[in-house]
Amino acid sequence: MRQLIAGNWKMNGLTAASAALADAILAGADSLPCDLLVCPPFTQIAALAAILRGTMVSLGAQNCHEAASGAHTGDISPEMLADVGCTAVILGHSERRQNHHETDATVHAKVLGAARASLMPVVCVGETEAQRDAGQHLAIVGGQIAGSLPENFGGVIAYEPIWAIGTGRTPTQADIEAMHCHIRASLFAHLGPAGARVRILYGGSVKPDNAAAILAIPEVGGALVGGASLDPKHFLAIAASAIGG
Ligand code: PEP
Repeated sequence: MRQLIAGNWKMNGLTAASAALADAILAGADSLPCDLLVCPPFTQIAALAAILRGTMVSLGAQNCHEAASGAHTGDISPEMLADVGCTAVILGHSERRQNHHETDATVHAKVLGAARASLMPVVCVGETEAQRDAGQHLAIVGGQIAGSLPENFGGVIAYEPIWAIGTGRTPTQADIEAMHCHIRASLFAHLGPAGARVRILYGGSVKPDNAAAILAIPEVGGALVGGASLDPKHFLAIAASAIGG
């Protein structure tokens, strides 16, 4: 399966800087061995859609509401994202689970909304450091998979240990492989044979200097990149380390 390198720009990017970042990524995107996705803040999506339309760089959002429309002040629906040119949406990022109290049930509802609007959901799962220290990480992530995914799930999973996000720390190669194999088994248990088709990204302090080793781990289907996705040279270097499929 071709790997996916996705950039989560988080709450970064005014108009000129976002366009410059998208232009620089596009300029280096030719003949990369992977699929590319960038997820800017909502305010930049329409402008980036104009830049990225018809290119090999896909456009996603970082969150959405589950409903198509209605009395939800300040929210954005999956249909609105599709309307402005998104083809994907990150759901259940740990910053949303922690800061906005999103539960597996919330994420499950949003995944259904994304599918209704033909958006590819990128569902984030991952344990805290305390949960890993207590040996609960496999059970926690297995529970997030079971609770967040509908039985007809057709998206992508991003395994992001919370303690590795933005910290410069990463799990060992063996720990990443063990978790990704566990996620694959959980996907088979939950989705049946369709579980084989789900890409499982690793996220958490992926940088140009550790990307090749991480992307070579069995069952790693790509990377979700935060901080390093804001520097086009770093993002493209990570993408160049991908394993073609
Ligand atoms: C993220 O928050 O999705 C992420 C992976 O961040 P970083 O790469 O900065 O650790």
